This record gives sequence, structure tokens and C-alpha cells, in this order.
Amino acid sequence: MRQGRIGRGVVHGMDLRYSPAAERFRREIRRWLAESVPATWRRPGFWIDRDGSEESLELRRRWEKDRFENGFAGVDWPAEYGGRGADQEIRAVHDEEMARARAPIGPFLGLTYLGTALLGPTLLRYGTDAQKRTILPRILSGETIWCQGFSEPESGSDLAGLSTAARRDGDVLVVSGQKTWTTLARHADAMFALVRTDPAAERRRGITFLLIDLTLPGVRVRPIRQMSGSQEFGEEFFDEVRVPINGNVVGRIDDGWSVARYLLSVERNASPISQYVEFRHELDDVIAAARQVRKDGRPAIDDPQVRTRIARCRADLELLRVRGYDAMTRTARGEDLGADASVTKLLWSRTRLAIADLGADILGLDGHLSAGPDGGHHEQFGHLRWRHLHVRGQRIAGGTAQIQRTIIARDLLGLPR
Ligand SMILES: Cc1cc2nc3c(=O)[nH]c(=O)nc-3n(C[C@H](O)[C@H](O)[C@H](O)COP(=O)(O)OP(=O)(O)OC[C@H]3O[C@@H](n4cnc5c(N)ncnc54)[C@H](O)[C@@H]3O)c2cc1C
Repeated sequence: MRQGRIGRGVVHGMDLRYSPAAERFRREIRRWLAESVPATWRRPGFWIDRDGSEESLELRRRWEKDRFENGFAGVDWPAEYGGRGADQEIRAVHDEEMARARAPIGPFLGLTYLGTALLGPTLLRYGTDAQKRTILPRILSGETIWCQGFSEPESGSDLAGLSTAARRDGDVLVVSGQKTWTTLARHADAMFALVRTDPAAERRRGITFLLIDLTLPGVRVRPIRQMSGSQEFGEEFFDEVRVPINGNVVGRIDDGWSVARYLLSVERNASPISQYVEFRHELDDVIAAARQVRKDGRPAIDDPQVRTRIARCRADLELLRVRGYDAMTRTARGEDLGADASVTKLLWSRTRLAIADLGADILGLDGHLSAGPDGGHHEQFGHLRWRHLHVRGQRIAGGTAQIQRTIIARDLLGLPR
């Protein structure tokens, strides 16, 4: 992807070759990844077998620290905040290589994911100098693990309906209420949350974007087990938790909605390049199963329907890849992707689900009977069964498919309501 030429966009064609500097960086990060990601971690099922365990937490914590110390965390963040100050082209190479090496990144495995992918970019735009200086380096080093506290039992799609209250008492906000469906709840040290500071105001006013230390008195965290069996999810209860205003409000009190909107747009568009590589791995796992599993007396891969579905997934993945380059170019120019991010979210969640469904269908009954990586006649493909259940939540996380379609209809297509 050559600098200065990538800006021409998808429609008019792009030069997808990387510059020599980016290729040098690729060799550098590949060397480090070859040493830091053991071959065992790349085995499909390695992390699934250890889900929710102390061992998994410790391995990933150490890896994040090592990554930071070797200069591969926050490559496109300013150097003064612990990043490398690199451009978007280097970031694209970084994302590709991390995913190619099957490093423990992304929403499921990345301990620093919510900090780096969501909170960091938001603070870079809305944070004070002091917030950037204190919080950003600790995100990258993995010293503070962040989670996102937006959803509540009565408010998910209708985010502006949230009711967790934060009453002002001198120089603190006193928080009471409940958040739920929180990724990484079990391990997080802190939460970026939306709280209601003015119950009398119009729904989208009176909301504040607040950083909450989860070790404060009055916070209780309870794990939620997902249908895949995964255990890092949870919910939090706040009982009169006293959060100092100084340093913990992002933007202004009562004006958190614009901050949240920006974060959601970043979330919908988060790392399509690494997703492309990650989902290619998942499709490769499915193709490997299709070669081994027999259907009607011959390898499943010979079935024309299976072949058509594989081809469709592959085509959608290529679309995701070029959309990723396009989004990266536009973000580098400072553009807000707005509703375009919803198209990407819809595309990647739909494609990932199609890959997982194909994997389960190839296994036949075994693909549907058990959630664990053991049992069934195709034990070696337990990870496909697990994924089939686990990725269903992706259509919901970050805003459901229906909500994305509404945004696209309204903001991109201008359809009447
Ligand atoms: C794997 C996973 C991880 C998550 N991680 C986090 C996290 O870390 N932090 C966090 O805050 N939240 C997280 N969430 C929660 C997620 O953001 C919400 O589940 C999501 O926004 C939907 O809200 P809800 O569950 O309340 O469903 P509801 O809003 O009650 O929706 C129920 C159904 O009604 C449909 N619906 C609702 N309103 C409309 C409408 N106006 N038009 C058409 N259809 C509509 C929805 O599409 C859905 O099918 C996660 C969810 C999942 C599954």
C-alpha cells in the first residue's frame, strides 16, 4: 500500500503494494513474533481448552508486557504515550502479522484489546493531556486492563435509555446501578462507562463518559458463562461507588454522548485488516475439515454446495480486506467513517458466522451436539464446534445487525423512517 496513493479509494482502484519501510517493519515484527508466540499457542483449541483459567490470564499478561517492551504495542500511537508513532501503513502490516502468527489479540483473547482498540483512540481525541499521559502508556503495557460498561439489563440497542446513576457529591460522582454483557469483566481493573448524571435532561444529554476503577469499594463483579462455555464475560453491580471527578470524566459532565458515539464508530470498524487474516485462518480450518470429513462416501470438499459456500466466504473476506484498506486511508485523513462503519460491522459479523456455520455443517451432527473441544466423532475439530456457538454473539456485540441496518438505511441510503 504505497503512501500517497492509497487515498484514491476502492472505487477508483488502489495500489496495494507496501512501501520498502513497511516491508522492513514486517520482517522485524515477524522475527519477534516467531520468538514470542510458541507453536503450541497456534494449535486451534489451545486457548479454548484454557478459557477462563489463571494460566491463560498469566500467559497473555506476560505476552502483552513483552510486546510493549519490544515496541510492538500501539505502533500508531504517539511515542510520548508509549507508542511508536508509526503511520497507518505500518499499522496495517502490524495487524496482518499479529493475526498471521495467531498472536493472542482481538476481542476474545487480547487483554489490552478494549483499551487499545476503543478507549485509546477515544482519549486521543477527547482526553485531557493529563489523561493521555497517565492512562495511555498503562493501556499499552497491560498494567491496566480495561472493559467497556455501556450495556445494562434494560438498555442495549437503546443505549440512550441507560439508567446507571452518578450523583454529584462535591468532587466525586457517586455511582449506583448495573452494567452487563461485559467482555473481559473477570480480568478488568477498570471500566470506561456511560452513566446518567442528569436524570431530568433529554435522554442523550445528561450522560457522562466516566472511567471507573473496579477495585473501589461498592463494586461487585459476577461472571456470566456464554453458551460456548466461555467464562471471561460478566456483569457489574455498583453500590454508591465514589469516583473522583478529577481525571475520570472524559469530555464534559453531561456531554458524554458525543464521546460514546465516536467510540462506537471506532468499535464497528475496529481492525478489519487483522480480522481478515484471522477469519482466513478460520476458513482454512474449515477447509482442512472438509478435506478430512467424508460426506456421502467422499470427502466433503468434493461436494459442490460446500465448494460454493467456501468460495462465497472467500469472496466476502476479500471485500472485507479492501474495505479495511479504504477505512484505514480515510481514518488517516481524519475522516469520521460514520455509517460506513456499520457496513463493515455487518459484513464481518455475517462472514464470520457463515464460516462457522459451514464448519459445523461439515461435521454434521457432531458439529451441533457438544460445545466443548472434546467428545463426538470428530474430536480434532472441537474448535469448529466451539466457534459455531461462540461467534453468534458477534452479530449482537457492538450493536446488533438490525441496528446496523437501521443506521445504513437512515444515514447512507436516506430511506424514509
Ligand atoms: C459477545 C458479546 C460481547 C459484548 N460485550 C460488551 C461489552 O464489552 N460492553 C458492553 O457494554 N456491552 C457488550 N455487549 C452487549 C451488546 O452491546 C448488546 O447486547 C447489544 O447492544 C444489544 O443489546 P441487548 O442485548 O440489550 O438487546 P436488545 O437491545 O434488547 O435487542 C433485542 C433484539 O431486538 C432488536 N432490536 C432492538 N431495538 C431495535 C430497533 N430499534 N429496531 C430493530 N430491532 C431492534 C435487536 O436487534 C435484537 O435482535 C456484548 C454482547 C455480546 C453478545
